[in-house]
Amino acid sequence: MTAPQGKSVGIDLGTTNSVVAVIDRDGAPRILTTEEGSTLLPSLVWFSPDGPVIGENARAGLDHSPDVTIFGSKRLLGRRFDHPEIRKLARILPYELTEAPNGDTWIQLSAGRAVSPEEVSALILRELRRIAERHFGGAPVTRAVITIPAWYDAAQRQATKDAAQIAGLEVMRLLSEPTAAALGHGAQRGADRRYLVCDLGGGTFDVAAVDVDAGVFEVLSTTGDAFLGGDDVDRAIVENLVRDVRQSRGLDVSTDAIAIERLRLGAQRAKHELSQHATTKMHIAELAQLPSGKAVEYSRTMRRDELELWASPLVKRLEAPVKEALRRCGRKREEVEEVLLVGGMTRMPAIRKELARIVGREPSVIPNPEEVVAIGAALEVARLDGTIEGVLLIDVAARGLSMSAGNGDCEMVIAQSSVVPTREHRLLATRQDEQVRIEFDLWEGESPEAANNRHLGRYAVVDLPPAPAGDVLVLVEVTVDTDGTVRLGATELVSSERLTLEQIFHAGLSRAEVTRLQRQLAEAS
Ligand code: AMP
Repeated sequence: MTAPQGKSVGIDLGTTNSVVAVIDRDGAPRILTTEEGSTLLPSLVWFSPDGPVIGENARAGLDHSPDVTIFGSKRLLGRRFDHPEIRKLARILPYELTEAPNGDTWIQLSAGRAVSPEEVSALILRELRRIAERHFGGAPVTRAVITIPAWYDAAQRQATKDAAQIAGLEVMRLLSEPTAAALGHGAQRGADRRYLVCDLGGGTFDVAAVDVDAGVFEVLSTTGDAFLGGDDVDRAIVENLVRDVRQSRGLDVSTDAIAIERLRLGAQRAKHELSQHATTKMHIAELAQLPSGKAVEYSRTMRRDELELWASPLVKRLEAPVKEALRRCGRKREEVEEVLLVGGMTRMPAIRKELARIVGREPSVIPNPEEVVAIGAALEVARLDGTIEGVLLIDVAARGLSMSAGNGDCEMVIAQSSVVPTREHRLLATRQDEQVRIEFDLWEGESPEAANNRHLGRYAVVDLPPAPAGDVLVLVEVTVDTDGTVRLGATELVSSERLTLEQIFHAGLSRAEVTRLQRQLAEAS
């Protein structure tokens, strides 16, 4: 007897907030609410002494234990520790980043304890799963469509899948966020159009050209700035507030993690208020403590024009990715038929105005820019389950892949923007007599120089039949799935026998580690 299949959900696993949606029995998408009644679950995990606290309740941790309260972990997922942007983040985050043995970025919670961003994301996914299970009256939820930025590389995609597996969710498909946005916006109901989706969330800015034609959704090009989002605006405000505190109170709080965190929360609240009003009052009852133990209070009026001035260097960075997305699909801005603004930050008037200027038209106002992506994910669940017909999603590889053997140059295997799934082959030959293994490297990027590409892994084809040099030919097969995840296979050309591939090094968690963490989390539930 096969186990009964669990329920499926659509998930937007966001940098700042995450959202879970389902399709109701009447076929309408529905956003589920947290226990607090919110449609958004803050993507926040506080590793409290009593165990991890997720979502709204973890905000308490931000205030008094910022070193073990993890926000924005999506920015770390699948990233190498030596990435320049990670180096930059490491300097400003209130929690400590550390390098895992394989070069990945992990989070150091205490002297003896580090967690991977996959584990943090898994805790958020498990919470979303619980929200959905409550909605389904306790029925198990076991499968999900999870949205990801369109430009996510193979390591980031795999890391997302690993996080889902740790949380006990089988990924039906990773769906790119702009496609999900177009789908959620109602594009499946016959609104054939050439869309440009601009998504500015907490951590990233993504732009994608998405064509919808007779139910076929096609991402033509994607670009973005992986390190431009609301968190950066918050940080810009905090820097200015720190200066203000120094000037007005003669107090330097720049190295006081708790004061900085309180300013960050105040800054975020003020930023939201200033999307509606021209001024707002900020009040922090206890910003810091003087050596005498006396609490320092901080209050200040903030104006929209001040915010716009502080955020202007960031706002200026919106233009390049938009132009690049159009250039890559060979389209002029006049040829775009509808511009969709997605992500919480597009509520900020200065952002809307700048994007309208860049695209030369008024973008569509989506009433729920934070929810539309999850709705798209739920619709994709329905499509995969066969409840919605006549919709086809075509995605492209966000980046090219290259291979190199020995110390040789990289050779491109799969070109950027190839329609996925796709499969290519490369032939490797032995170079010595009796050679029993051939090692090769897989890179993300198309440059012949390894230094310009990202190292995805080193592999070895083993147990080759003994023969003179050059007589054993191995066909390596590189597959990029609909998800954008990469699979490898190898065949010996003469005998057509499948060969064993060993992983010598690869980015992300090992299979064994994922299984162990999955078991551990299930036991803790
Ligand atoms: P998302 O990742 O789409 O949930 O977007 C989160 C980002 O949007 C965070 O930086 C929020 O501070 C920001 N945000 C949410 N609501 C508003 C608002 N009303 N005005 C300005 N920014 C907002």
